[in-house]
Amino acid sequence: MDSFPAPALGRVPSAEGASPALAQWFAAKAQHPDALLFFRMGDFFELFFADAEAASEALGLALSFRGEHRGERVPMCGVPAHAHEAYLARLIRRGFRVAICEQMETPEEAKRRKAATLRREVVRLVTPGTVTEDALLEAARPAWLLALAPGEGGAVGAAWLDVSTGAFETESLPAVADLPGLLARLEPVELLAPPDLAAVLPGLAGERATEAVLPRDATGLVAAAFGVSTLEGFGAYAAAEIAAAAMALDYVKTTQRGGAEALAHLSRPVPRGARGVLQMDGATRRSLEILRSERGDMRDCLLAAVDRTVTAAGGRELASRLACPLAEAEPILARHDAVAALLASARLRNTVREALRGAPDMARALGRLSLDRFAPRDLAAIRDGLGRSAAVADALDAAGDAVAPLLREASAALRPEPDPAQELKRALAETLPARLDDPGLVAVGYDRQLDGLRRLRDDARGAIAAMQLDLAQAWGVASLKVRHHQQFGYLAEVPAAAGEKLLREAPATASRDGMAPIHRQTMANGHRFTCAALADLDRRLAEAGDAAAKRERTVARHLRDLCLGAAPGIARAAAALAEVDVHAAAAALAAEDGWCRPAIVDRPDFAVRAGRHPVVAAALARERGGGAFVPNDCDLSPGRRVCLLTGPNMAGKSTFLRQNALMVVLAQAGMFVPAEAARLGLVDRLFSRVGAADDIAGGRSTFMVEMAETAAILNQAGPGSLVVLDEVGRGTATWDGLAVAWAVLEALHDRLRCRTVFATHFHELTALAGRLPELSLSTMRVREWRGQVVFLHSVGAGAAERSWGLHVARLAGVPKAVLSRAGAVLEALEERARGLEPLSEELPLLSRGAAAAGRDAGTGTGSGDHASPASPHPALEALAALDLDSLSPREAQEALYRLRSMLNDTFFASQHALGSAE
Ligand code: ADP
Repeated sequence: MDSFPAPALGRVPSAEGASPALAQWFAAKAQHPDALLFFRMGDFFELFFADAEAASEALGLALSFRGEHRGERVPMCGVPAHAHEAYLARLIRRGFRVAICEQMETPEEAKRRKAATLRREVVRLVTPGTVTEDALLEAARPAWLLALAPGEGGAVGAAWLDVSTGAFETESLPAVADLPGLLARLEPVELLAPPDLAAVLPGLAGERATEAVLPRDATGLVAAAFGVSTLEGFGAYAAAEIAAAAMALDYVKTTQRGGAEALAHLSRPVPRGARGVLQMDGATRRSLEILRSERGDMRDCLLAAVDRTVTAAGGRELASRLACPLAEAEPILARHDAVAALLASARLRNTVREALRGAPDMARALGRLSLDRFAPRDLAAIRDGLGRSAAVADALDAAGDAVAPLLREASAALRPEPDPAQELKRALAETLPARLDDPGLVAVGYDRQLDGLRRLRDDARGAIAAMQLDLAQAWGVASLKVRHHQQFGYLAEVPAAAGEKLLREAPATASRDGMAPIHRQTMANGHRFTCAALADLDRRLAEAGDAAAKRERTVARHLRDLCLGAAPGIARAAAALAEVDVHAAAAALAAEDGWCRPAIVDRPDFAVRAGRHPVVAAALARERGGGAFVPNDCDLSPGRRVCLLTGPNMAGKSTFLRQNALMVVLAQAGMFVPAEAARLGLVDRLFSRVGAADDIAGGRSTFMVEMAETAAILNQAGPGSLVVLDEVGRGTATWDGLAVAWAVLEALHDRLRCRTVFATHFHELTALAGRLPELSLSTMRVREWRGQVVFLHSVGAGAAERSWGLHVARLAGVPKAVLSRAGAVLEALEERARGLEPLSEELPLLSRGAAAAGRDAGTGTGSGDHASPASPHPALEALAALDLDSLSPREAQEALYRLRSMLNDTFFASQHALGSAE
């Protein structure tokens, strides 16, 4: 969906003096001022006034005019009713809402009432979050309608439902600040909120909510929707969650034709609670490109790279799992067991996947059946879907008891009781009509009454065909043809000359059997006649056709009821089918690419052997001539929780950072991971800051964004978290940047104690290695070869030896003169920088820990091993620490340089800046 806000619609003129039909239009429009009104007139949906202008522009339709209203021509455009879905889809994608105003009676009925115009009513409000048509939905993504309600103490109640499948969940968020994370997780297609909450949303996520009213008796409304007297049996909700749920239900009810009936297929709201779920904020999701790439497309994202599901519902389930990985061992292990079972037996996996492939989307078909908006193919989808369910269940059962518990549970759910499949099989014709109004839905032999009516109809049809011969004979016109005519029914057509003759002299033989010709129409090259016998047959045929059609609709309703009666079981089977698809797909991926089952351990651990980035590796494999992906280890196990990664740009740092964060997402979503081996202590919050993000729309600089995101980590990360951070401090001047990066790294290591991979180009930070006991150094290995830099993409122990920036600049084509000048400047700077090495010895002494305790730098109340300003000058300490006997002359000279630069004024200034930074 491009955006939520409906494009503003133009002014509606005064209704005064409107013609009867137009008066109806005004009344309907007044009910739905912010929606385009699709006004049914015969075979078309027409739009008028500003609606017509907006729609004609959006759809590229010709704008015409229809009559006048208050002295001005009325702008109009229309879409054919039988093809309106495609137009709706385009309008909904453009952010419009559409109110469908239908004719509620036939012209005959209106005539009988002596009414000036047909009765019309708005039967449905089409919004992005309430559509069920396949043309309007993305097959592989849930279509969440999210409702928000304010709670106590700044909390926010959230409820989201997918009308197309019936899924329904709630959660209570501690604060408005948690909303962006939820929005990023769900990517709702439509958002509802009461005005005051809606008002805070635009700044939050660039999304505008539809303003909705908080229902007064929320609990009563929800209870009524599910036909219960109390919600106690459903689970524990916060009041605001119920308010949000009620708001969502109310909205669905008022936008749908069925009213309360439209809610029948929704599942009970499941309180999700944030517990048990891996927390990721919007920035982390964007940076990890889970459901879409940073550019916003859906191709180069994690989901696209790992999706091996073979059904649309399986694709949706996988998207939901990746968007919301778990954080509790038990359900994760259960999923891993299921994948393992399907990986262990290629036969089981293949049979299951074969049975699943192309299985229809039962959940959405059921949604359309419930909302009484179904087509014949939806009944077929239930029939075929249940057939596939049984086949998958057979395959799972054949695998015996060894199969994982989740698969056993799925297998039970795949055999619903009652199971309407057999009856649907008998009832539905082999080839189905596209629309319910077309004949041919019901198979011969299913309904005796229908068969009888069809026989009558066919007999009449046969009799009419036979009549062609009789008439030709009786009228003496050999070339006579009986043809069906839209307006007049069956007529006999004869060439002009024969027609003239019939008009002049009625054939004597014809009157006997009611065959006297009655003229109906003169055409350019012929005449059309009927006669009493033909008219009689025509009428009988039409009556039998009508009766058959009516009976067929009755049978269709019966079949719908049959499905709805079995709806809970069908919904469970559909969900089980999707789950099995996801497990089997994960197993297929693991088999195909050598993925492994991550060992889940009960401590904050993280170790990956030969890990790969699924998206980059797949892209390299696709590219012809692209090198192979170089697998890398990552070890953040206790004792080496923080990894400081150095290396030049383009060496693969961000790939490495992301791939390790993605291991967590995949493992905790219940999948296997792209590695030879992996050990993981569950992560409660995952943070990823990789790649610069300007927030131009929000008016914030890159550095401001970077700092805001860093602040979010420092305020929320803890011992259960995993953080991957790229180039903190890159957005500002070197000293500032280094200072910030330094302090952040210390805080992550000392205070937050989270597992961390910290990539930096500040080589100076490597000096912290000796100071921070759990810090390990890694570097992207690079080799110089004939004056060129070669990126090996492999991560080794240690720190980058030198700056490779100039090599990269050369690769990028920076002119030679600039490069050689940069080389000279680099040399001079490096000369000076040698004096900075004691940084590692000194800065932590000044700032770590003590500053956090609010140390006053002037009075020096630092304690323990922290030097205070009252201690001897650091240069003196460094001098005292020198082992003079072991120094080579060159080292002695370097030490002197170092000591002198410690006395340098500039250096003191920056020292103080660092000392007070925390
Ligand atoms: P950095 O963050 O260090 O600038 P990236 O992670 O963006 O570098 O990687 C640059 C390019 O190098 C990627 O687009 C990818 O093609 C390639 N690359 C990165 N990591 C690997 C790897 N492990 N194996 C093979 N190619 C890699």
